[in-house]
Amino acid sequence: MLKVFLKKGRELPVLRGHSWIFSGAVEKAHGDTEAPSTTEVFDHSGKWIARGLSSPKSQIRVRVLTWRDEPIDRDFFRRRILDALELRRRQPARSASAWRLVNGEGDFLPGLIVDRYGDFLVCQFLTAGIEALKAWIVEALSELLSPKGIFERSEGRVREEEELPPSLGVLAGEAPPERLAIEEHGFRFEVDVWRGQKTGFFLDQRDNRAFLGSLAPGERVLDCFCYSGAFSAYAYRAGAREVISVDSSGPALELARRNLELNGLPAGDETLIKADAFSYLKADDASFDTIVLDPPSLAHRRADAAAAAGGYKFLNLHAFRRVKPGGLLLTFSCSQHVSADLFQKIVFGAAVDARRRVAVLKRLGQSVDHPVSLHHPEGEYLKGLALRVLN
Ligand code: SAH
Repeated sequence: MLKVFLKKGRELPVLRGHSWIFSGAVEKAHGDTEAPSTTEVFDHSGKWIARGLSSPKSQIRVRVLTWRDEPIDRDFFRRRILDALELRRRQPARSASAWRLVNGEGDFLPGLIVDRYGDFLVCQFLTAGIEALKAWIVEALSELLSPKGIFERSEGRVREEEELPPSLGVLAGEAPPERLAIEEHGFRFEVDVWRGQKTGFFLDQRDNRAFLGSLAPGERVLDCFCYSGAFSAYAYRAGAREVISVDSSGPALELARRNLELNGLPAGDETLIKADAFSYLKADDASFDTIVLDPPSLAHRRADAAAAAGGYKFLNLHAFRRVKPGGLLLTFSCSQHVSADLFQKIVFGAAVDARRRVAVLKRLGQSVDHPVSLHHPEGEYLKGLALRVLN
């Protein structure tokens, strides 16, 4: 067990419910600072304020799990997962067999992601503290959901910062099939939970894909950064005449092809294009009624935000040039370090440079199964704008 005493004044964010304690906020620590462990958090006067899990290697030294005097044990995780489950039972992710069951801080379980794909669960244990308690979490998930199998895809930047190696494999039950079929709003999609991006599918965009249902029939649509083709499928079902799907990844385009075919939609080589979307948008001069622009995160650190702004501006400028008058642009940023406000300013700058008049139809965000803690606004990573683009 570790005891951490905070510098004077640094207890305030914690008392207000933020779960991250940075190394710079720590005055002194007693106990084993080398191994991840349950951590008691005190203010500078020695008053107990919270309990969490430590990460010896990360700048974020402690992630708080509770502000009450309750043990962090197997039953604690069971209760938190039950809370998360209760939200999903009320919310209409019911129209899908795949949804996020635990969204880290948004479900007050920092470091833990659990996605449900049909009968299987796919988990990410992102921090040293939560990694050390994996067995409890797997037990709680098995007990509460009785999945066919629990699979792990723990990898990526947060784990690197924790100096944790990637960890992939079956944690309980059966191994998921190479291609796991899910349903979403009446579509059937195949998900590659073994090698696909994130845990296999972009569940966070589900509600935004549904926004494409309001296209006019006969449209020509560009799905830029299409990954496994989900936006493209929705565009076809809304009556699009042709959807051009662009991604730089061969495996992503193969997934897109299969998913379009699986739903009886056109999937010819001339519409599935392996290209760098930046060059594609700039080089080609064909125009579209609707463009979806969903790039990967361009800013992984705060310091990258300025460079990322240039990337978003470029993409949006060239997208504006390619949208027909009266057309629609759905544009996204999934960078945690680019705020909704900054993103809107970047898109505004692109509209001005492209000399287009643009109206915001709707602000878009992550699906309802990706809650954001009010105390942890950093969790609101996905922001989007549905824009009407005029002359
Ligand atoms: N819209 C998708 C998710 C997009 S994720 C969905 O709803 O499922 C971002 C995608 O961008 C990934 O598939 C990645 O392969 C692709 N990508 C990354 N860099 C790219 C580039 N420079 N040009 C084209 N695609 C790129």
